[in-house]
Amino acid sequence: MMGMTSEAMVDMVHALDNMPLAYGANCGTGASDVLRTVLGFASKGKSTPIVSKGNAGIPKYVEGHIHYDGTPELMADYAEMARNCGASIIGGCCGTMPEHLVHMREALDSRPKGDAPTLEQIVEALGAFSSASDGTDGEGPVRGPRRGRRGAKPV
Ligand SMILES: [Zn+2]
Repeated sequence: MMGMTSEAMVDMVHALDNMPLAYGANCGTGASDVLRTVLGFASKGKSTPIVSKGNAGIPKYVEGHIHYDGTPELMADYAEMARNCGASIIGGCCGTMPEHLVHMREALDSRPKGDAPTLEQIVEALGAFSSASDGTDGEGPVRGPRRGRRGAKPV
């Protein structure tokens, strides 16, 4: 989403002079995409804690307000999968309500840690990704042609 792969962000974070105590992903386009990103972070094998804060579903405009379609049960599955993906600080972003957190806590307390899910298992449990690729497979997303000012520094 920000023009950087999850793996490149791990390299960037670990090259900082003042490295954060943790780093992660939040919000965006739903819990599935956040977990794909967490898998990318974890694939680098660093010990720095990873944060996962997925939306409670995808926001939709319904009768004058924004509605999130993620149920407490879905967020419980998300929390379990986030831990299995490698996150150790797990929460919810937009649309997350107290009832979601109750179910997430219960899932983390009662379900054993398991193997990291495959991308197919994430889609099956939480819904489709918003894009075919997150860039870590070399298939994109592809940045547009750079049209920055002459001499502009990369950011
Ligand atoms: Zn959010």
